[in-house]
Amino acid sequence: MIHIGQPKVTIEGEYAILSNEIDIDGLRKTVWFKVSKCYGEYLCYERSDAYVIAVLNYAMRNGHDIECDTPISEDLYYNVDKYLIDALVAYNIDFHRPLIKADIASETLPCANAVGTGISCGVDSLHALACQTNLKFKRHNITHLTFNNVGSHGVGEKAASLFASRCEQPKKFAEEYNFNIVISDSNLMDVIEQNHYKTHTYSSMFPIFCLQKLYSVYFYASSGYNYHEFRLDDSPSRSCGSYEMLSLPLFSTRNLRIYSEGEGLTRMEKLKEVVKYKPSYKYLNVCLLTEDNCGKCEKCVRTLLGIDALGELDNYKEVFDIEYYRKNKSWYVQQLVNQKSLKKHDYIELASYFRGEITPFMHLRALPYKVLGWFPFLRNGMIHRIIKQWRK
Ligand SMILES: [Zn+2]
Repeated sequence: MIHIGQPKVTIEGEYAILSNEIDIDGLRKTVWFKVSKCYGEYLCYERSDAYVIAVLNYAMRNGHDIECDTPISEDLYYNVDKYLIDALVAYNIDFHRPLIKADIASETLPCANAVGTGISCGVDSLHALACQTNLKFKRHNITHLTFNNVGSHGVGEKAASLFASRCEQPKKFAEEYNFNIVISDSNLMDVIEQNHYKTHTYSSMFPIFCLQKLYSVYFYASSGYNYHEFRLDDSPSRSCGSYEMLSLPLFSTRNLRIYSEGEGLTRMEKLKEVVKYKPSYKYLNVCLLTEDNCGKCEKCVRTLLGIDALGELDNYKEVFDIEYYRKNKSWYVQQLVNQKSLKKHDYIELASYFRGEITPFMHLRALPYKVLGWFPFLRNGMIHRIIKQWRK
């Protein structure tokens, strides 16, 4: 049984904190969520919504029911209980169907009608900014950029320092382009320990619903699955993003609409919009390894090739070492051939732009990757380790 207590708001120095006790089979821990004091009035202590979504996937995987001291919003309770849980249980026989015990709140909460989206300065968030600003749809123009620490930076102290250093870029961006910025921190992932890849939609809803009196619309960057890739079964290689077309509308209530921003678009289709968005020339940041773009990690390589494919390299001299890329182009194209051989769909799409530059020798060098592409079960085995070693 997961017991969700009553959320409380406290002010500590510069921060407003929403805290709540969560008890899992008798082990009680406090989950805290911290924002700047100026957002304190929007912290939602009247509902259990944020906590129910945050623990839902965990409850299904670990056989727990859920009990709440504070009511759940009617729309959310109805959507989750009547649709989402049944759909997931139908396709995953090892998932438990949690019984949710809570009062229902049907009245509307006050709302500041802000329109939010996360900002990491990567392709997804800059796509949201390129496409959801200056719209004729006044209630859908982004007003608030958010940077949340709910799991994507890892857990523990290392995650805290990574989060602190990664905040700087979004802060600068918001200041330069006149957006409000909401930076939040939480220990959610330390309390509900789960695989971020498998549960990120759920944990990412937590900061949004903690501030549900602030937002009426929220653009959550889509996970890059096309409509034809919609799946509910939990296979090892698939994230919970494969059913966001279902889960996000069901997490939405009549007060807060969550969109899967860029839904159904491929990475190159998103990048085509990003390269038209001038702030990206100064702020695009995709690196997996370092604060600035290293130019060599998988995401830097993929993005550089994408920008090159669109003929926009010169616009990105501030954020990438374009001269290095040009000098070492054949190494980059080789990486593309290798990744394509592994059947990664982003690279299959990219390869069509580089047809004239892919040589027979590159195909030959990518042969070990082709073998892994044909026999994916080898990827975690000895052969994969040998190939990795060989690549060095
Ligand atoms: Zn990098």
